[in-house]
Amino acid sequence: DPRPAVVGRFAPSPTGAMHLGNARTALLAWLHSRALGGRHLLRFEDLDTGRVRGWAYDVIRRDLDWLGLDWDEEYLQSRRLEVYAGALTRLRTYPCTCTRKEVLTAIAESAGAPHGTEPVYPGTCRQRAAFPARPAAERWRVPEREVCADDALTGQRLCQDLPRDVGDFVLRRGDGAYAYHLAVVTDDGAMGVSDVVRGLDLWSATPRQIALQEALGLARPRYLHVPLLRGFQGERLAKRGGAPPLREWREAGTPPERLLADLARSLPWPEFAGLPGEVSARDLLGPWRALWARVGGGAAAAAQP
Ligand code: GLU
Ligand code: ZN
Repeated sequence: DPRPAVVGRFAPSPTGAMHLGNARTALLAWLHSRALGGRHLLRFEDLDTGRVRGWAYDVIRRDLDWLGLDWDEEYLQSRRLEVYAGALTRLRTYPCTCTRKEVLTAIAESAGAPHGTEPVYPGTCRQRAAFPARPAAERWRVPEREVCADDALTGQRLCQDLPRDVGDFVLRRGDGAYAYHLAVVTDDGAMGVSDVVRGLDLWSATPRQIALQEALGLARPRYLHVPLLRGFQGERLAKRGGAPPLREWREAGTPPERLLADLARSLPWPEFAGLPGEVSARDLLGPWRALWARVGGGAAAAAQP
């Protein structure tokens, strides 16, 4: 196999322009791939057609270019529907015609107290004999067991009991759109992704993605969840919340090196402290390698065949 051992990816949803938070995650994903001498993929997660903006693809590409973050291959999930269809047929699923309101009522009425932070679908349609005539989603009948995820960057471990903490989740929506969890797991497997670097907001979804990987017979990548950049009030930066798009700095003529320095200095790790006011993306490879060595990533990588 001539492929390098490390394959990483940045997987933006082209639902709007990149903001600073997206840019910092993009930077870290790139740093990890390149610091380890790996390939780096750009994957547009554009399955939610109602939220996709056609102009966003190019703005994201241009923002990445401007920051000096290159990639070796590009994919669009919207062109891979048959791959997800194939994966879906290999999983034990059942149709669910519940409306959002019915799901919430069923959760409220289900015997057990809710666990964790998210509402768990109580399996209402598992034994439903007659379905109302409306479009059905496909839910995965989750295995009756606990799944644990380990994070190579934070050293954290998160275990979830699938039926209790996660519940049967949707793999294809009623409108036919494949769900994020199915697409991400299928793609990371098909594209040989070895290292997933992404925002901490997805950490709680990792055990269910590992469960899907195992059911599909796919290799488990290494996970590195990075902290999200927050606003002055600690709020999450979001396109919908009006976080200023990266494009504004680009169009105002700000040197990308200044923005990169600000993004890097906002990181919570000592390796990124004391940087000069302007740096290139390549200048940050050294600090990332130092961080990766400190958290023991280098040792873990060397121990792998
Ligand atoms: N498309 C997801 C997002 O923009 C990221 C998915 C992932 O990295 O696994 O939040
Ligand atoms: Zn249902």
